[in-house]
Amino acid sequence: MIVTATTFSQEEKAVKAIFDWALTDTTAYHNLRLLCKNHKGRITGTPEANKAVDFVAELMQQMQLDRVEKQPVTVPRWVRGEAEKAFIISGQNEKTEVPVSALGMSIGTGEKGLIAQVIEVQNFKEIETLGTKNIAGKIVFFNRPMNPTLINTFAAYGGAGDQRSQGAAQAARFGAVGVVVRSLTTASDNFPHTGVMRYNDTIPKIPAVAISTKGADLLSTTLKNNPETQFSFRTTCYQLPDSVSYNVIGEIKGSEFPDQIITVGGHLDAWETGEGAHDDGAGCMQSLDVLRIFRELRIKPKRTIRAVAFMDEEVAQRGGKEYARQAELKKETHYFALEADRGAYMPKGFGISAPDERLEKMLALQKYFEPYGIDDFVKGGGGVDIGSLAKFGTPLSSFIPEMQRYFDVHHSGYDTFEQVHLREFQLGSAAIASFIYLIDKEDL
Ligand SMILES: [Zn+2]
Repeated sequence: MIVTATTFSQEEKAVKAIFDWALTDTTAYHNLRLLCKNHKGRITGTPEANKAVDFVAELMQQMQLDRVEKQPVTVPRWVRGEAEKAFIISGQNEKTEVPVSALGMSIGTGEKGLIAQVIEVQNFKEIETLGTKNIAGKIVFFNRPMNPTLINTFAAYGGAGDQRSQGAAQAARFGAVGVVVRSLTTASDNFPHTGVMRYNDTIPKIPAVAISTKGADLLSTTLKNNPETQFSFRTTCYQLPDSVSYNVIGEIKGSEFPDQIITVGGHLDAWETGEGAHDDGAGCMQSLDVLRIFRELRIKPKRTIRAVAFMDEEVAQRGGKEYARQAELKKETHYFALEADRGAYMPKGFGISAPDERLEKMLALQKYFEPYGIDDFVKGGGGVDIGSLAKFGTPLSSFIPEMQRYFDVHHSGYDTFEQVHLREFQLGSAAIASFIYLIDKEDL
């Protein structure tokens, strides 16, 4: 009997080389530290965001790419103002301070702040039932938690998100003077989690804040004991006129099909309460790393590979829309796109949206990743920044890391560089680079 040694395909060897390289190099992790520590507060339209743009453009320049571009995007500019203050006031004027964070795009309370009786609700239907006679003049407290029984924490987030995005508009319909929203997190702690909200032009604008989950639990208990409980908060946020910012694009030209573009990206803007480490500095740096790994390993892609640090995912999603608009104007062919915007935890796999035939082949790539413990290749992918490319029929994909801890940090002061684990981050870079390599190499 002849025993043959295991032979590895060219693809398997390339994937191994990518993982080996990513797991022994710390440059991208170091760059993430610089982004987090030097460019905190980079919410859309701020000088900090534009400094972060220059930082990323500079990193791309150093990578000796074929092209680097700052693509102008007109973005909104919302200013948080002074640190927020909030108190639960109950009994003999007993005041307990609780952590709150103004919701993005909210108006402020004015210098003096707001004080009113509180009414707790779980959903919009409850507001309708209570009606103006119970709501008018009060602060509405939305306290529906993210559903803890859902294993898909993004589904739980989506299921509770309407309170944050539309709570103020819904409550104002019945004369509420402000809203307090339970933070969208499964953690029990003192970090308020911000995020964008929207007003309805035909309904009065009222100020909105997120309260930490511990603060929400305390407010709820206090209300049960004393329905006369009042809440006060002070925010000084406001809006400035739109300004110009940029998507930052770096690319390696394809050797065979330079007109076919593969985009891999994350978003550079981040809420100023934290450092935007998991959301989404990590996704930007992992996307850039695809190009760096290709360069270092002398991988010559057939198609043009673009890394994009998108601007304005958090507030008005203008970066992704502008990227697609420019693609249309320039008649670009977008072959494939991947978004990394779910944190930089241990990679689990990829979600993919593509026509059936291509989808089957892409899902079958799982076999290359199983040796690395990455085996969750599922139907359904995309993201806010690449979503607008769907109109070209471009297959869209999401990088999927482990998701149980993501909402602990998401949009809060806890989203710092220290929460990003070196190995998990490196494995993510390797997985994304390998996936992009295979999509291109196997003409999927
Ligand atoms: Zn994000």
